[in-house]
Amino acid sequence: MWRVALLLAVFCVCDGLKFGRLCSGNSHNSRRTSDRWGQGHYGASRGDRTHKGVDVVCRDGSVVYAPFDATLHGNIIVYTDPQKAAINNGINLRADGLCFKLFYVQPDRTSGSVRKGDRLGTMLPMQSVYPGITSHVHVQMCDRTDPMKYF
Ligand code: ZN
Repeated sequence: MWRVALLLAVFCVCDGLKFGRLCSGNSHNSRRTSDRWGQGHYGASRGDRTHKGVDVVCRDGSVVYAPFDATLHGNIIVYTDPQKAAINNGINLRADGLCFKLFYVQPDRTSGSVRKGDRLGTMLPMQSVYPGITSHVHVQMCDRTDPMKYF
């Protein structure tokens, strides 16, 4: 047991960036577990590749909030497939030397700075592309490492 405690102590980013509420209707940033389309944790299987982000539950049309003080660095093209155009947007956030991508968000704006809790935009209609999925914002680090330590 002490080994676990030691590991937690070593890897804890105790004074670093922490996610506040990302989506209206999900005050604790509950994450997607499992649905007919897959699972929402980092490293989940996506057929021949793995999931490089964490999926935070967010109903279609919900307000998406800045989870920390950040600067905005443009929108994100998620897909090349025109069949997925309805959810093909997102926003790039930077803070504390870290870079995050939020997928499936229609951003209100794509530059400037935001404070934690400010409105960033709207959750796109994920059910129209993936019927039955747990609609979610996909949170990905720009370097594709595991973002869980920031939750
Ligand atoms: Zn995802």
